[in-house]
Amino acid sequence: MSNQNLASRDAAVIWHPFTQHQIEPISIPIASGKGAHLFDTDGKKYIDAISSWWVNTHGHGHPYLAEKVYEQALQLEQVIFAGFTHEPAVQLSERLLAHLPANFERVFFSDNGSTAVEVAIKMALQFYHNQGNTKRRKILAFQDAYHGDTFGAMSLGAPSSFNAPFQDMLFEVEFLPSPQDTDACIAAMSAADESYAAFIFEPLIQGAGGMKMYEASTLDTLIQIAREKGILCIADEIMTGFGRTGKWFAMDYLAQKPDIVCFSKGLTGGMMAMGLTLCSEQIFQSFLSDDRRKMMFHSHSFTANPLACAAANASLDLMEKEETWESIARVESRHHEFAATITEHPILKNVRIHGTILAMEVETGEADGYLHSIRDDIYQYFLKEGILMRPLGNTIYILAPYCIEDEDLAYIYGKITAFAQGLI
Ligand SMILES: *Cc1c(COP(=O)(O)O)cnc(C)c1O
Repeated sequence: MSNQNLASRDAAVIWHPFTQHQIEPISIPIASGKGAHLFDTDGKKYIDAISSWWVNTHGHGHPYLAEKVYEQALQLEQVIFAGFTHEPAVQLSERLLAHLPANFERVFFSDNGSTAVEVAIKMALQFYHNQGNTKRRKILAFQDAYHGDTFGAMSLGAPSSFNAPFQDMLFEVEFLPSPQDTDACIAAMSAADESYAAFIFEPLIQGAGGMKMYEASTLDTLIQIAREKGILCIADEIMTGFGRTGKWFAMDYLAQKPDIVCFSKGLTGGMMAMGLTLCSEQIFQSFLSDDRRKMMFHSHSFTANPLACAAANASLDLMEKEETWESIARVESRHHEFAATITEHPILKNVRIHGTILAMEVETGEADGYLHSIRDDIYQYFLKEGILMRPLGNTIYILAPYCIEDEDLAYIYGKITAFAQGLI
């Protein structure tokens, strides 16, 4: 089946996410994937420089992940998770908790990143509600934050073109300044009163907001102040988790540990959809009562789906291998070598690296932002060159599977400089 055939059938029936169909009516039909490569139905190869929207950590078509999911499918594909449990879920929870700071003791399952965030917010608000505290109803988040696309998660995102049609329907969230502005953030946090239940943040890197990086020391101070005020701290590690930043989790760079953490994306190696929200024993205990009204009223049909748990366990097997960490370190050092060659570049600005993530802005004089006019030019240029790279406005970034080969990285770097050269 050719590209054209499948693309036109798609265009007749499918509504794609984050897509303006009038401007971009045609989607590229992908037939298969292997390692860092995707192949369309005509056999054209694309290097997946963004891990298919940040989920794929170990490469496409990984035989070990596929085998483990297949084995699980033959054993048990799905079971209700209220009143029932299964080995893959328990094993995943035990193994994951062993990699986290000691204050984390409970794992709650959901379906994706946004739902993991919804659960975190419900945990924080109900933690206080269950104790009869009616004052703590507000949430703190950062400017430029992104926490997902469901209504609660949208409320936590900084006002932007993403949420504009719904802005008046969202619940009230107080936005701290950008975490890059340490002093202003600390001042704002210091002024927070007893009406706040929680502070949610993307630790060290604000992803969808433009791969904005900030200092661990800033976050440490903010968490410390929040803690003193009884504000629960929620780390949204949906993008940063599972080796992305060069350590298991971004919070591993922090001295102060959060009370709640959200995972999804890299959790299953990009194999299956799943979200997790982990919390301290203190938070879990606040839901214990003879009164059923104090329990967590949250569930999805596929909560703790055994296939997703099996994928996550298999991905953990790979994460625990020395060679995965060697790949992560290798990708980071390749990024640094490339960054050193463009320090004086007239157009590629603000080059920054954290672990396997490399980001920079293409400066054309226009204000930065998601709807920047250069975005489509960048996207199309790289696609034509066989690279899947989805810029955030004029922000170019690489966030590739850890197994990406040096040769592919060198090819992407070369195309970044060639694209910029074309603008000079
Ligand atoms: C992607 C993302 C989400 C939302 O996850 P979905 O699975 O897309 O719902 C939330 N927070 C962060 C930091 C993300 O990167």
